[in-house]
Amino acid sequence: MTAPLLRDVAPELEAELTELLVEAGEPTLAERMKALAIFDRCRCGDSFCASFYTVPKWTTPYPKGFRTLALRPGALHLDVLNSTIMYVEVLYRDDLKAKIHAVLP
Ligand SMILES: [Zn+2]
Repeated sequence: MTAPLLRDVAPELEAELTELLVEAGEPTLAERMKALAIFDRCRCGDSFCASFYTVPKWTTPYPKGFRTLALRPGALHLDVLNSTIMYVEVLYRDDLKAKIHAVLP
């Protein structure tokens, strides 16, 4: 299976994240948005959750050195390990949830 790219699934989110990362002073991470792939979606089952994983394998708890960027506190967070975006937490965005669930049922 080839993981779908965020920019194909939800180009508006890719654009939004890129802009927020540039504003946050994270140009390296912003640059990665173009190639960011969605490997799985969050399976927590919360009705307001549209979060997804952007690495093929992850461990919980995350290893030392990971950080969370609150781009829109309470709604849009990135979990980052070094310069790798591991997880995009998207909350209260039904429009995006529908698109993400369409590619990852
Ligand atoms: Zn979730």
